Amino acid sequence: MVDLALSEMQVMLRELAMEFAAAEIRPNAADWDAQSEYPVETIRAANELGLLNLHIPEDYGGAGLGCMEEVVVNEALGWADPGFATASYATSLACAPIITGGTDEQKEQFLRRVSEGGLASYAITEPGAGSDVQGIKTRAVAEGDEYVINGSKMFITGAGHADWFFVLGYTDPTAGYKGMSGFIVEADRDGVELGKKESNMGQRCSDTRAVTFTDVRIPDSNIVGGTDGAGWFNAMAAFDLSRPNIAAHAVGLAQSAYEHALQYADERQTFGKKLHQHQALQFMLADMKTKIEAARLLTWKAAFLADVGEKNTEAAAHAKRFAADTAMEVTTDAVQIFGGYGYSEEYPVARLMRGAKVMQIYEGSSQIQRMIIGREITRNL
Ligand SMILES: Cc1cc2nc3c(=O)[nH]c(=O)nc-3n(C[C@H](O)[C@H](O)[C@H](O)COP(=O)(O)OP(=O)(O)OC[C@H]3O[C@@H](n4cnc5c(N)ncnc54)[C@H](O)[C@@H]3O)c2cc1C
Repeated sequence: MVDLALSEMQVMLRELAMEFAAAEIRPNAADWDAQSEYPVETIRAANELGLLNLHIPEDYGGAGLGCMEEVVVNEALGWADPGFATASYATSLACAPIITGGTDEQKEQFLRRVSEGGLASYAITEPGAGSDVQGIKTRAVAEGDEYVINGSKMFITGAGHADWFFVLGYTDPTAGYKGMSGFIVEADRDGVELGKKESNMGQRCSDTRAVTFTDVRIPDSNIVGGTDGAGWFNAMAAFDLSRPNIAAHAVGLAQSAYEHALQYADERQTFGKKLHQHQALQFMLADMKTKIEAARLLTWKAAFLADVGEKNTEAAAHAKRFAADTAMEVTTDAVQIFGGYGYSEEYPVARLMRGAKVMQIYEGSSQIQRMIIGREITRNL
């Protein structure tokens, strides 16, 4: 028998997340977006309430919960505001490689800092390499018991507020991905320089910046998992846990756009009928709902596999790709149902449509997810 019901605890967590989302996030989302305001206080409040960074083990001050609990909460955050969802999830992503491959000391120092309200960023992308991670140029060179890091990162979410960064760079550029290592770099180290906040198409409350590392010295105790290829492994393993959560943001965002569209279709009349009484629009709403239901199931499956300890790389790619594309399609259809009002920033669906686009780009674009799925399904041919 397959049981798709959430546990009592997951239902309670979802209710808590929805209450917070409806009261503290959604009413502010349009203003945050218009002002490009990073909602740092609300992020800290969500963390304090126990809605963020749920995967940090209890030993380090976290909740020690699974991916399923995280996706339930993240759908609520995505429903409230995709920008808030992205901004608040950056720290979780940065913690993931440390949870997977960090030492007890690193966990005690850096995960506990997050449990106590700290923020962090995950820094892989560079000006010249995003999808092609192995094309990064950041170098870390050993000098005594330190490493000296030089390189530039691009599009780093939360960089302007991060206390520390998880940084991927080469310790041995001749060894391909096996020469990559992961580092924890505190934001206040000499040589760490932040770029300006990018002016993005959507999710404008989130903070996206370049970060440059110039002769930044870190102790070798800040290497995550050693220098024998663990950097690549830990950075990629983080995506297996994060992609279901990005998918959950996309499901929540799509659900929100669908709800707005359904309500509007009940209020607006043309040719003597409510919009939803025109079959063309009712079918559009039906297709929106089907895609959302399917995206949620793929998301839950990817989270479930992670929680039972099964490899979920393919499932996470299906979920992330389909949910992101669903968010884009559903928000576009929601704008269509609103007609001219959909194109106006006076109504929420325009902001939701702008916010959906990046979901097809970051955390591995929709093309990269298809490459992952293709690799997985042809692996044993
Ligand atoms: C708002 C925002 C926040 C971000 N946050 C972070 C962050 O916190 N940390 C971080 O490290 N990065 C972050 N990124 C970076 C993001 O992950 C990259 O932008 C993304 O991986 C794509 O890389 P790129 O921009 O270099 O595009 P490219 O890799 O240059 O790709 C350009 C286009 O070509 C397609 N493409 C590339 N290769 C192939 C191929 N082989 N086959 C088919 N199509 C292909 C891509 O899908 C894309 O459509 C963020 C980006 C944005 C916009």
